[in-house]
Amino acid sequence: MASTSDCLFCRIINGEILASIVYKDDRVVAFNDINPQAPTHVLIVPRRHIASLNELSTEDDGIVGEVVRRAAAIAKERGIAAGGYRTVFNTNAGAGQTVFHIHLHLLGGRRLTWPPG
Ligand code: AMP
Ligand code: ZN
Repeated sequence: MASTSDCLFCRIINGEILASIVYKDDRVVAFNDINPQAPTHVLIVPRRHIASLNELSTEDDGIVGEVVRRAAAIAKERGIAAGGYRTVFNTNAGAGQTVFHIHLHLLGGRRLTWPPG
């Protein structure tokens, strides 16, 4: 599935809905979370619509790597890489997934406790 008109993040990616974009290239887009849970809370998404980690196939290995490396690059740019940051993919309702287009949460800029809620 290339994109879905009823997917919020596909609509952000194609510019139908405005977001605070922090990075974009041909395959990956990153934007600030509208309801930030930390001083840095960025969502890194593949342009390709994939509903959740449960739908990943081997052909997605490259894009998942790019998403993860982009999170690390943004953490470095924000000066939080050395101190520490958290990256999270929530999968399905039990883990709190509310938008069914995979997105990596990048959280940092404050002390993060473990285990998460
Ligand atoms: P999850 O609960 O893991 O599916 O994460 C979805 C995230 O998307 C939440 O942290 C929301 O705050 C965030 N979100 C929802 N709508 C928007 C929006 N229009 N722009 C940016 N972030 C959003
Ligand atoms: Zn989508």
